[in-house]
This record gives sequence, C-alpha cells and structure tokens, in this order.
Amino acid sequence: MEKSLTASVEQAGIVGAGGAGFPSHVKYNAKAEYVIINGAECEPLLRVDQQLMAQEAEKLLGGLQLIVDHVGAAEGIVALKAKYHDAEDALKAQLHKYPKLRLYLLGNFYPAGDEQVVVYEVTRRIVPEGGIPLNVGVIVTNVETVLNTYDACVSQQNVTDKYITVTGAVAKPITAQVPLGITVREALELAGGVTVKDYVIVNGGPMMGKTISPEDVITKTVKGLIVLPAGHPLINSLTKGVSHMMREAKTACMHCSLCTEVCPRNLLGHRLEPHKLIRIPSYGKICDGQSSAINAFLCCECRLCEYACIQDLQPWKMNSTLKKELGKAGIKNTLHNQPEKAAAFREYKKFPVAKLVTKLGLSSYDQPAPMVALDKEFKNVFLPLRQHVGAPAESVVKEGDSVDRGQLLAKISEGKLGSNIHASISGTVTAVTAEGIRLQA
Ligand code: SF4
Ligand code: SF4
Repeated sequence: MEKSLTASVEQAGIVGAGGAGFPSHVKYNAKAEYVIINGAECEPLLRVDQQLMAQEAEKLLGGLQLIVDHVGAAEGIVALKAKYHDAEDALKAQLHKYPKLRLYLLGNFYPAGDEQVVVYEVTRRIVPEGGIPLNVGVIVTNVETVLNTYDACVSQQNVTDKYITVTGAVAKPITAQVPLGITVREALELAGGVTVKDYVIVNGGPMMGKTISPEDVITKTVKGLIVLPAGHPLINSLTKGVSHMMREAKTACMHCSLCTEVCPRNLLGHRLEPHKLIRIPSYGKICDGQSSAINAFLCCECRLCEYACIQDLQPWKMNSTLKKELGKAGIKNTLHNQPEKAAAFREYKKFPVAKLVTKLGLSSYDQPAPMVALDKEFKNVFLPLRQHVGAPAESVVKEGDSVDRGQLLAKISEGKLGSNIHASISGTVTAVTAEGIRLQA
C-alpha cells in the first residue's frame, strides 16, 4: 500500500529546516485552507532559500502540491521577496502546471519572514495572540522542508544533509549542501576559512541567531553560519548580560516608544508594547493598568526593537528574560485575543532591510554566497539525538555496527513528539551516547 504523506515525512525525519525544528509530520497532520512556503529569507546575509527556489523550482512546486492535496487546502502559495528575480522567474515558468498554486511577492522589510507576518501579508488573516497559523486555517512551511518532503514522498529519501550559507569574515562566502553532523569548523573551511584572528560564529541569521562553537555540529536546524570579529557590535549585543541590559534600560530609556512603533507583533494588533515592558527595571512594574509582564509572552524575539531604539537598548532581551522567569514560576501565557485589524499605519512602519544591515554594521559582509557543489568527502560525523522540537530520538544501532548513508540510526521515542535520525555518511558506528551517535567512514 502506498504510504501517506505524513508517514513518509515521519520516516524520513523531516523537521522545520528554517531553524524551528518542529517535526513536519505533526505539522502536516491537519486540515488547512492555505499552505504557504515561507521563502522570505528575511534575515540579512542568508542566501539558502532564494537560491533553492531558483534552482529547484519544479521540485518545490511539486512538494507544495503534495502538501496542498494532503491537507485539503484550496491554495498553495510561495511567498518570496520581489527582489528574488531568479527565483520568481524559475517558479513562474513552472506554475502553469499547478492551477492551485501561486506566488506572493513580499517587500524587502524585516521581519517579512516572521510566520505571523507572512500569514497576514498573504491572507490578511491575523494569527491570534499566542496562536499559530493553523488557528486561522494556514500552514506555513520552509523551502528546504518542502524539498525534503518531495524527496521523501517521491523517492523515499531520508534527511541526511542540510543546506547552509557560510558567510561573514570568511575567504569565500558560499551556500552548500553538507552532510549532517560535520563540525562547524569543517563548514567554515569549505568557505576558505576565517579571515580574522579572534572571531565569534553566529548560528542562523544576524537577527535571531545565537552564537555557536567551531566544535559544534551541523544539525537539521542550522541554516547559516556568520563569522564576525570578536568585538563586533552584533556580538556585543548578543553576549551582553541581563543585568547589564537592565542597568542600561534603567538609566537610558526615554520612554519614546519607538520600539513599539516598529514591533511586528504590535503592528498586527497584539497587545505587546516593549516600551512599557522595559520600564520594569526602573519601576518594578509596567505602570499601566492594562498589561503586565505576561504580555512579554507575545514577543517573538525578532530583535527589531533594539535597532529602532536610539539608545541601543534591548527590549527583546527584557522580554526574553521575563518569559524565562515567568516560565520558572510556572506562569503561562493567558493572552489569546484575536485582533480585528492590524495597526492603521502598519504599511509605513515596515523596517527596510537595507537600513537594518547598516544599523547592524554588516554592510561589508552583505555579499553574494553562491551555491556550490562540494567534492569533499567527510570521514567523521556526530549526529545529535535531539535536532528537533520534542524528545531525543532513541538509538537503534550499537557501537561497531556498519551503516549505509540514509540508514535509520535513531527513531522517535514511543508516543513522543520527535524525529528520526539517519546516517549522513556510510561507515561504522564508533560511539553511541545519550547525546548522539558518532560515525566513522
Ligand atoms: S525605543 Fe529605546 S528609549 Fe525608546 S522606549 Fe523603547 S527602549 Fe526606551
Ligand atoms: S523582539 Fe521586539 S520588535 Fe520583535 S516582537 Fe519582540 S518586542 Fe516586538
């Protein structure tokens, strides 16, 4: 019997490849009116999705059609920036085969790729506070995730590789498909190595990425590696301690509310006002009878508020801290309002990416990172058992076993949310630990 789409996706170990890592077989196990491929790639410097859409247009639309059919959607939409001309041309050349599919062209603003922003841009529906796109009948998925879905359904391929951009202070910025489990250091070497002595690596985009060590490994959720000199303003911002951030907020916030003016969730009508939450270090409260620290749960940590603030304060870090502290105290989000409409001047408050790149101090690194085919063979990989949202996968192999590339190494724990893990190279299992599985070619 032919396998269902969700069974194929589950078997293949597909998770949200844009960084979220949510198991795709769970996401696709739903009914929806719209399926949107989020091709905005709004994080500056990343170049994966725009090139995949241009190079794999046929497969991408084929994968989208499979998902649309599976969830019973009326339409499938590829939402991409209008500036991705090669991708637009390639997709348009194939669209005539798919009457239910269309493109939606987004402006060049940040965060165009926030999934709630994409949903609003494409459908004019607003995801409720604390909600997900499915609450308004929409499934949002990622470009590489859809390509993986196509490969799983059509050729029974399991997830063994990841597309990443390696850029910043490297000799030759590239985008490439690499085996899961190679080290970050090996990935940097593919881009000709680092060009500065003391450096820090950001995993993901400059806005929502986190620092990563050269000895960490490439997982299913790594989308970009950005190398920056130690002491770069972006690194200082990411590594600034919470008490430092609160001291600065206490002394320098002038309550101008520029942070709230640009906040993408506030502009969708959510009750998130970072200029009020940042009052907490000064006054121990928000000084507003309408809201409380719980409103911090509505923050998606896009960090745009920091770059709107003329005092370089970090409302997002305040919100992140509040969420952690509330979580530790067992307090959950109770805000689930469904806004009737977005903010009146939302269109005029969209933050241009060019301005953001300048404010981030990244103009000199805003370079092409062309897709390259690798001819290098990797001899050693380490595959973490948790590369996804949910419980770690459970190993089905033991030390000394021989495995082929694509073979199942670890499976979803019984009855748990999770994802299967497969061998990214052929070789021998040299270690199985609670953290992961090491393979040697
Ligand atoms: S933009 Fe900066 S100074 Fe203005 S209210 Fe927000 S945190 Fe305070
Ligand atoms: S990080 Fe700042 S701008 Fe982004 S959602 Fe949170 S409060 Fe709004």
